[in-house]
Amino acid sequence: MKPVAANLLCASCRENYWQLIRQLGHVQLPALRSIMLRQARIGTPAHTPSRGNAPIPIDTHAQDLIADSEAWLAEQAGKIRAAYAGYDWRKAWFAIISNRRTILDMSTAADDYAALEHISRRNETALTPEEAMVIIGTCPQCGHQATSTPQADEWTCPHCKWQGGVQAIKATRDNKLWQLEYTGKPVEVARYLSKMDIHCTSDQIRQWLTRGKLHATPTKHKGEYVFNLGEITAMLDCHN
Ligand SMILES: [Zn+2]
Ligand SMILES: [Zn+2]
Repeated sequence: MKPVAANLLCASCRENYWQLIRQLGHVQLPALRSIMLRQARIGTPAHTPSRGNAPIPIDTHAQDLIADSEAWLAEQAGKIRAAYAGYDWRKAWFAIISNRRTILDMSTAADDYAALEHISRRNETALTPEEAMVIIGTCPQCGHQATSTPQADEWTCPHCKWQGGVQAIKATRDNKLWQLEYTGKPVEVARYLSKMDIHCTSDQIRQWLTRGKLHATPTKHKGEYVFNLGEITAMLDCHN
C-alpha cells in the first residue's frame, strides 16, 4: 500500500486536477452524450432502409468513454458520501464540485487524478475533429501511425496500447525527416508540415529558397520543388 504522503498533490497538480474535473462535467460529458445521441438517431434503421443509406450504428466508442467518465464521477462522489455513489452523473459531478477541499485532500487524490487524466485525454481525442489532429510519428512498438490532439503530452497507441511521451515520439519522427522528400509548392509543404505540428509559413520557405538556404530541386512545374523535410525543420530550429 502506498503511504498517504505519496498521494498528496502539489499546488499546480491540484489546480490541473480541479480544471479536469470541471471540464469533465461542464464540457466533455455533455459533448460526448450529444455525439452518442446524434449518432443513435441517425443510426435508427427503422424508417428508411430503402433510401440506400446504410444505418450507422450507435457510436460505441463514445458510449465507452461516457461509461468510464461516469464511473469515475460515481466513484469520487461515493467517497464523499456512500449514498452519492448512486447519483446520476450530473448530480455526482455537482456533489464533487461542491466539495472541493474534500476531493483535493483525499488520501487517494494522486491516483484519482492520474485516472482522470487518462479519461480526460481519451475524451479530448474523441472530441477533436480529424482535421485538427496532428501526426506525431509512429508507435515505437507496432509502427501504427500516431495522431493526437495538438496539446497532448502523452500518447497511447490505439493498436497495441503502448504508452509514452509525445515529445519522444516526435523526436524520433524528426530524426527521420531527413529521409523524407515532399514534392509541391511552398504553401503545400507548409500545410503538410502543419499536419505534423511543425509550423512554418509559405513566405518563410520562399525566402529560404530565394536566399539559397534550402536546396530544394525545382520540378518542371512552375513554383513546385522537391523539398527535403529535414532541411526545412533544421531551418526552423535555428530561426525559432
Ligand atoms: Zn504536482
Ligand atoms: Zn502500437
